[in-house]
Amino acid sequence: MKKQRLEVGLLILGMVFLQGARAQDSSDESPRLVRVSDSVFRTVHRPGAANSNVIVTGEGLIVVDGTCRGDGNPEWLKQELDRLYDVPVKYVILSHDHEDHICGLQVFDDTAVTVSHARTREHIVREGRNTSVPDVVFQDEMEIHLGGKRLVLYYFGPTHSNNLIQVHFPEEGVLIAPDIARAERSLALPDFRDADIDGLIDTLAILAKLDDVELVVPGHWGPTTQQSLLEYRDYVVALRDRVLEEMKAGASIEEILERVTLDEYADYGNFDIWFRANLISMWDKMYRYREPNLEDSGDYQTAYPIGFSVGVTGMGSNQ
Ligand SMILES: [Zn+2]
Repeated sequence: MKKQRLEVGLLILGMVFLQGARAQDSSDESPRLVRVSDSVFRTVHRPGAANSNVIVTGEGLIVVDGTCRGDGNPEWLKQELDRLYDVPVKYVILSHDHEDHICGLQVFDDTAVTVSHARTREHIVREGRNTSVPDVVFQDEMEIHLGGKRLVLYYFGPTHSNNLIQVHFPEEGVLIAPDIARAERSLALPDFRDADIDGLIDTLAILAKLDDVELVVPGHWGPTTQQSLLEYRDYVVALRDRVLEEMKAGASIEEILERVTLDEYADYGNFDIWFRANLISMWDKMYRYREPNLEDSGDYQTAYPIGFSVGVTGMGSNQ
C-alpha cells in the first residue's frame, strides 16, 4: 500500500511538474526545469550555462551541480523545487570544484548533505569557493540510496580536473558527466587548463562503454549520447598526437600554431574561437609531459628551451 501511494504521489507530482515546465517554454531564456528522464530534470536558462540537474524521489530530491550565473541560479531552483514538491533537497552532489558548476549551492545547506570527491573539498576550501563545503567525501566510488532509487558516483582519476566525478542513475539510463561529455559535434571546452590528458582519454573510453547509459548529460547544453564521448576522445587523441609529432620534430609553439590545423574538425561548434586555446594548452601539457632527447651538443638548455635559465650549461658545476 505504501508503495502504491508513493507511485500515485509521484505521478501527480510529475503531471504538475510537466504543466509548469510547458507553461514556461514560451520564453526562451526564462529559467525552467526540463525533463531528461522519468525522474531526472535539468535547469535550462541562459544558453550555455552550466547545467543543474535534479533527481526526484518520493523521499527527497537530489541536486547535481548548479550555477549562480543567470536567472536559473540555486536560489531560483530552491524556490521552484519548494513550489513543485513536498519533499526537500536531501543531497547536493558537486561534480568537481570549478566555480561555474557549483556556486551558490549553499542555499540547500538547511536540508541537504553535500557530497563530493575528497579532492573537490580540498580545492573548495583552498580557493574559498562560493558554494557548500562538502559534508561527505569519497575516493573511488559511492552509492546514494533515496526513495528506492540508487545513484552511483564514480571517480576514475584525474581527467578534466583532478577531482571530477560522474553521476550514474542506472535505473533510468542517465549518466551526468559534466565537462567531460560535450554537446554533439562541439569542442568541449575552451582549453585544457587543469586537465590530465591521458586520464581524460582513458576515462572517455570507460564512460563510452559503461552499461545502462541511454543519455549523457554534459556540463553545458542538452543531453547527448555515449557516441559523442568517443568522438571527443578521437579529437583529443588527434590533437595530442599532432602536437607531439611536431614537438618531437623540434617545432616551436609558433610553428605548431601554423602547422596543426585539424581541418577535419573545423565544422565543430566553437572551433573558430576555441581551437587556438585548445592547441596552446595541449602544447603546454605536452611540454611538461615529455623529456626530449638532448641535441648533439648535449646542451640541456638548447634541448629544452623553457625561456629562462635552468642553470649553467652542463650538469657538473658543483663538483
Ligand atoms: Zn570544469
